[in-house]
Amino acid sequence: MVASLRTLAGGSSKQTAPTHRASLPPSEAYSGCVTKDSKPPNPLIAGMELGGTKSVALIARGRRILKSARIPTGRPAETLTALGDLIAGWTARAGPIAALGVGSFGPLGLDPTRADYGRITSTPKPGWSNTDVLGALRARFDIPTGFDTDVAGAALAESLWGAAIGAGTVVYLTVGTGVGGGVLVGGRPVHGLVHPEMGHVRIRRAPGDDFAGVCPFHGDCLEGLASGPAIAARAGAPAETLAEDHPIWDLVADELAELTTTLILTLSPERLLLGGGVAGGKPFLMAKIRAATAVRLGGYVAGLSPARLARIIRAPGLGDRAGPLGAVALGLRAMQDFPQRSK
Ligand code: ZN
Repeated sequence: MVASLRTLAGGSSKQTAPTHRASLPPSEAYSGCVTKDSKPPNPLIAGMELGGTKSVALIARGRRILKSARIPTGRPAETLTALGDLIAGWTARAGPIAALGVGSFGPLGLDPTRADYGRITSTPKPGWSNTDVLGALRARFDIPTGFDTDVAGAALAESLWGAAIGAGTVVYLTVGTGVGGGVLVGGRPVHGLVHPEMGHVRIRRAPGDDFAGVCPFHGDCLEGLASGPAIAARAGAPAETLAEDHPIWDLVADELAELTTTLILTLSPERLLLGGGVAGGKPFLMAKIRAATAVRLGGYVAGLSPARLARIIRAPGLGDRAGPLGAVALGLRAMQDFPQRSK
């Protein structure tokens, strides 16, 4: 019998009420019990998080990161080789890895029936367009390998160890250099034509706001208005230097609330987590986004009290570790989906 993802992840396979788990400290190591005749539920998993400027390699057991290192994202072959070398070096001492997970910036080819499966496809990042990430890694590591967007991985990690435990429908939104979102339905990342690209939706603008936007594809899509570079262009200073009472934050909260409202009305998520360099770690912005979302919902969704909305729209439980642990979660998912390839 295939172990459940939660069991492999070092947690109970029994679902836990999410509100009881969100306060677990991110540093908590796995301490589940192992019965005599069961396999250890915390196999050694390797992860790679590919980012636009930095990439991370790590090995972990469950949510416990044993080794990790961050390198600049250079050319594709050099970067993948360097990350692979880090993992190979660690596993020489720590033992064989059961699976590898890769969470990457996109857009990605995720349909196994298509020729671009496993590739970073049409990215404007120089040198990375059409890079066969999965092919390169499978040639080196003959183990189950999971590949998905960094945000889908983060959503999966949050559902295993963070603020979305027990939730089947989850959105993980990141607001930083760009705006992106991963979606889980029934606990699995949503793919279809490609994968969700919700950062590029067009939103209702504030009256009189005529900022052209910074998205090279759409101008004033959400990413073009509310990403870190957009905020810096509008405010004349980097987003991280702007005080809580800067008027830009009301505008940004309203813009992000256009998306959170749409997501609540379209996907009905039980958790809508907001991370990233701009949205993460700013309780004041989270409160503004919740309030602006409530105004836009207009009381239409039954039972969505302010307290309940605060349980839905919240910060990631894993903080900055949602991304790297997302790669580990994708490895665990691959191990569950392709157990015959486990060594
Ligand atoms: Zn756009």
